[in-house]
Amino acid sequence: MNFHILTLFPEMVKNGLYTSITGRAIEAGQISVEAVNIRDFSKNKHKKVDDYPYGGGAGMLMQAQPVFDAYTSVLKQIPEGKKKRVIYVTPQGYPFTQRMAEEFAKNDELVFICGHYEGIDERVLEEVVTDYVSIGDYVLTGGELAAMVMIDAISRLIPGVLHNEMSKETESFHGELLEHPQYSRPEEWRGKRVPEVLLSGNQKKIAKWRIEASVERTRQRRPDLYEKYMALQDCKEFLMKQKLLHIDMIELINRGRAILVAREKDKILLMDKDTGIFFYTGDSVEFLQKLPKAVCQSIKKMVLHQRELAKEVSEWLHLKEVMVCYQLVYTQREKLSVSGLYHADGKAAESGLVIRPLSQAYIEDVKSSYELFEGAGEDEEYGGEYILNRIERGCMFGAFLGDELAGYIGIHDDGSIGMLHVPEKYRGRKFGKALQTYAINMALEWGWIPYSQVIEENEASIGLLKSLGLHMSKSPVVWIWKG
Ligand code: SAM
Repeated sequence: MNFHILTLFPEMVKNGLYTSITGRAIEAGQISVEAVNIRDFSKNKHKKVDDYPYGGGAGMLMQAQPVFDAYTSVLKQIPEGKKKRVIYVTPQGYPFTQRMAEEFAKNDELVFICGHYEGIDERVLEEVVTDYVSIGDYVLTGGELAAMVMIDAISRLIPGVLHNEMSKETESFHGELLEHPQYSRPEEWRGKRVPEVLLSGNQKKIAKWRIEASVERTRQRRPDLYEKYMALQDCKEFLMKQKLLHIDMIELINRGRAILVAREKDKILLMDKDTGIFFYTGDSVEFLQKLPKAVCQSIKKMVLHQRELAKEVSEWLHLKEVMVCYQLVYTQREKLSVSGLYHADGKAAESGLVIRPLSQAYIEDVKSSYELFEGAGEDEEYGGEYILNRIERGCMFGAFLGDELAGYIGIHDDGSIGMLHVPEKYRGRKFGKALQTYAINMALEWGWIPYSQVIEENEASIGLLKSLGLHMSKSPVVWIWKG
């Protein structure tokens, strides 16, 4: 990710961002930060960049020309085809959120424009800005601190920057909840003891305490978030009545990724804040037809939990039916036995098999063999980029015989286990079963309920999953998306 900051105070942003974690990421080449001095583009002999606002009023305004020329100089360095956004940090923008940080982190190049004085001539903003973003309802003297806040939050989402990739995918951030209190050594400080449960070593009890403490803290400090959390818990209670059919929606809530878009008793529409995929359960299309137009237009991909609605809903949303899948759920908490399949400690099994997270070195092997999306080629969503993203997130696992890739499996961005593939020459040696077991155990370790979505015709996969003890939903879900 390359950040370009157009500013009158380049030293200010450099001093801030070239230190600590962002500084280390710059040094490691994971991000780059370029501070462009707008003053260098002034055509005035005194390097002036501001003037009085037309119509009068207090203060000075930054002029359009130097800002535009500084922007054009940055644009020249950005190769065609790169994903970029141009952000004007302003108190008049949308308030910055974690979700926006996640969206921005998907780009290759981010250009920040920092205003000063009373702001910037509107005409240049109209020409170049794609996003207006505020860091809060207060007025700063300049945009530099705002840009730095955003760059910090975006950088930590870029693979490699935090050194704990897995935790981002598995972060048990329960929806909108604030984090629970944390304690370090010593056990007692000024007569205050660390809560006993945290010293118990009982991970189950610790996890339970943390969630409860999070809920309580959110209730006290952020009643607005607490209300959203409780509404989702209420949805979950309803969805649990048909757990197998709704496991994808339940897990979305459990993993803190669900946004409740709309609900009317037994009709629920959720959106995954990570992927933008919508999930609908309910027996009527009218419920969706009543949604605001902007919401309908933003639905590019949806999972329907009532097959009989598929035709009508896809027509209404101008989407097409892509696949019909059954959900298979591993309902136990105990890990599956790996005996006779692979060694959990990473040593080679008798068959020579080792299963471990897949590295980028194998991306071509995966791309060339991934059956479900064969033909997706370089398609942004399900071609190489998707697989690379899964590998970077620590969500692809390979079965190896020496250096040879003898199969792989992954966890999709929606959270389901899938992408199982064993090349023809390695079939019949239980490698598929070994990979499936590994992925289920991994999901359990991350605190998830493991589940897979299997295309209805894929009897082999359904058979394998059932033999591992997974339960299948009575009716399937239907994926619809833009053709
Ligand atoms: N007159 C402007 C207004 O009322 O919208 C405020 C100008 S402010 C003094 C100068 C610059 O600081 C702005 O152009 C913007 O770039 C930056 N800035 C100030 N407050 C901000 C905030 N809350 N979020 C993001 N940027 C901010």
